[in-house]
Order: sequence, then structure tokens, then C-alpha cells
Amino acid sequence: MKYYSTNNKELRYSFKEAVLKGLAPDNGLFFPVSIPQLGNDFFKCLPNMSMSDIGYEVARSFVGEDISDYVLEDITKDAFNFKIPVVEVEKEVYSLELFHGPTCAFKDVGARFMSRCLSAFSKQSGQKITILVATSGDTGSAVANGFLGVDGVDVIILYPKDKVSKIQEQQLTTMGGNITALEVDGNFDDCQAMVKKAFADKELNTKLNLTSANSINIARLLPQSFYYFYAWGQLNSIDKEVVVSVPSGNYGNLSGGLLAKQMGLPISYFIASSNINKVIPDYLKSGKYEPKSSISTISNAMDVGAPSNFDRILQLYKQNYGSVIQDIKGAWFSDKETKLAVLDVYERTGYIMDPHGAIGYLGLKKYLNKENQLGIFLETAHPAKFKDTVEKVLGNKIVIPNQLGKCLSKEKKSWIIENDFSALKNYLFR
Ligand SMILES: *Cc1c(COP(=O)(O)O)cnc(C)c1O
Repeated sequence: MKYYSTNNKELRYSFKEAVLKGLAPDNGLFFPVSIPQLGNDFFKCLPNMSMSDIGYEVARSFVGEDISDYVLEDITKDAFNFKIPVVEVEKEVYSLELFHGPTCAFKDVGARFMSRCLSAFSKQSGQKITILVATSGDTGSAVANGFLGVDGVDVIILYPKDKVSKIQEQQLTTMGGNITALEVDGNFDDCQAMVKKAFADKELNTKLNLTSANSINIARLLPQSFYYFYAWGQLNSIDKEVVVSVPSGNYGNLSGGLLAKQMGLPISYFIASSNINKVIPDYLKSGKYEPKSSISTISNAMDVGAPSNFDRILQLYKQNYGSVIQDIKGAWFSDKETKLAVLDVYERTGYIMDPHGAIGYLGLKKYLNKENQLGIFLETAHPAKFKDTVEKVLGNKIVIPNQLGKCLSKEKKSWIIENDFSALKNYLFR
């Protein structure tokens, strides 16, 4: 499989080049020249396949010769070593729990796959790489965890000061070793803009061999398609129409779902569920894409005003607005509605949603309206990651999973830097 840049469709890159570069040299996003179609046999076998089996089968055609079959098999086995269950919350409504990985958010799926691909490439070449990543809360820790202790790889995380939850911050700042956390005096979009500038900076790139780990990296996007197949296989109800609601920020997760659909997965349509940062729901309504500055909410991992995967969605639909709105419906909800949903579902069913999952749930409820329909919402983080909010809403203590509890007692270590590219550059050249 070859990849082109969304800014220049003539040039060709291998999977390896696309993964190592992250962003194309002309600042476009890498995109596969064709989307492989999965045959009937694959779909027949799905209910009996594990997440790693699915990952291996789907990834093969995307990876091509850059990773041998047996290394790829190891990568998928090792990356997807936690459960991803589909849980019934109420009649016809299912939660796809993507939060059982080491950092308790769905980003573990993409980050673990990508980090293993990158270490395979770094081993092949013997070159040291530096991963630069902006995070609105969960990406940083998932990526860092994927690389913790990996020789030849340094990870530098930029996160917005005072705009991530306490647990998220502890996760980001207590790993040590080859992981460094930079606390930026700005919001997530500022962090993302600084990272983009760093990639465009020749001097930095030559010196540090920079690689991006944001959801723009194709090796994070690709595995985010696997669990849609896995969920469909677990439901195993071919006679029903399946609708999936995705709580979205940078739209990497939704892009993964759309990719799965285009490979042949019979999902009827997706719901792009958002908080007040509703640039995409607004686009779906009006056809106009108008990025804005982001606003802080209780679903902070979705506080994105200029979603970096928007171009990829357009690419998937060949820039055709009419086709986009056939497959994607928009929905957005306020913090107040989100909290009410957390409480309501808990009181009726005992199921505890995190604020992001709650937005996914609300999006689903807005659209599920037919007989013979099943809805899945993606539960993108463990509720304990947003403990303060969730406990306040429920008036109850919630259980903290072991993997989260451990970082709480460790000492925070971060470098505060100004919201300014030269501050980042100074730090990197220190
Ligand atoms: C990152 C994140 C999202 C948003 O995912 P995108 O792929 O950026 O749209 C939603 N929920 C949680 C908990 C996240 O960490």
C-alpha cells in the first residue's frame, strides 16, 4: 500500500515513511491511495476473531512489505492485550468499553499499535527518534505509556496548564525515564499549533528526528478502525441495523470508524457527538467548516476547536458534502446535559459513564428511533479518569482501577513553558 499527501496526490510514500514522518512534508495528511475491501469470508469469521486477529488481518494490506507478517502478528498480539467488551446498558443500547488498557482511555489502542510499529522501524534503522505530542488529556499518557522504557525513543508531551483532570495530569507527569511533560500556558489548540510548527521547522527536524504521535499519524488511525469490526462481531446480529455514536474531539476515532465502513463493515451511519466545541456538527448542518478557539468543558479531551482529522474525513468522501452527511449525523450537548445523562443512566441502570461516553450516549439517543436498530456508543475513558466530576454528579465514590491508582501517589514532574513556539524550541535545544 502506498500513501499520498492530502495536499499533493501525485507523490507516493510507503507505510514506514508515513508513520515516521507523521505529517507529510507539505503539511498534508497521509492517506492510502486505495481502501482495501474485506470479503465475505472475513465478515463471516468476525464473531470468532479476537481483537488481535482482526488487527492483523486488517493491517496487513495497509502495512505492505514494511513490516513482515510475523512481526505484525507479534505487534497486534502485544498491543491488544486487554479486553474491549460490548456491554448492554439498556435495551438496544450498547457501550463499547475502550478503556481497559493501561492508561484507561481508548487512545491506548492507537498508541500501543503505533509505538510498536515505530520501535520496529527504529530497530531496523538504528536511529534515535523523538516523539513530540500535544495532548488534551489522554493522548499524552497513552503514547508515553506505549514508549516508556523503549530504547532509542524519547517522548515529549505538551499539555495545557490547568486544563486536564488531576488524574490525567498525574499520569502525564509521573512516568519519568524517557518521558518529559511540558506544561504550556495556553489551551490545547495552542499546544497543537506549537507541535505543528516544530514539524515545519527544518533546524529542529534535522537535529532531533522528530516524529508525531497525534491522531494525524496513520499508525494511530488505522488501529482505531479495528474495534468497530470487533464490536460488530461481538453483537453478531446481522438482521439489525447498527448505528454507532462517537464522542469526538480531533475526529481520529470517528475517522477510524468511517474507514472500517469503507472497508465494508455494515454500519448504517455514525453520529459525531460533541460538546460545545461543535465545529463539526455545525459543518454537518451548514456545509461550512469554521474552526474556532476551543472552550473548556467537563469532557475536556474533546475541547478541540480545529479538529486535525477533518481533512481526512473530506478525503474519505472525496470532498463530497452530500456523501459526508449520509454517513455522519451531528449532535452536541452542554455540560449540564452531560451531567444529567451520567446521573440518569446511573439511576436507571447502575451503569457509570464518564462525561465523554455520556455525550456519545446522548448522541445515540437523539438518533435511535427505528425498530430493528441497535446502537453502540463508544465509552472512550474510564469514569475514574474524571473522578471529581463523576463523583459530584452521582454523590457517590467510584472505584479507581489499579493502573490509575498507582500514579496518584507519585511526585509530579513537569516543565512550565510559555505559549510561544520559541519557548518550545529553546527547551528542545537546551
Ligand atoms: C481523545 C478523546 C476523545 C476524542 O477522540 P478524537 O479521536 O480526538 O475525536 C474522546 N474521549 C476521550 C476520553 C478521549 O481521550
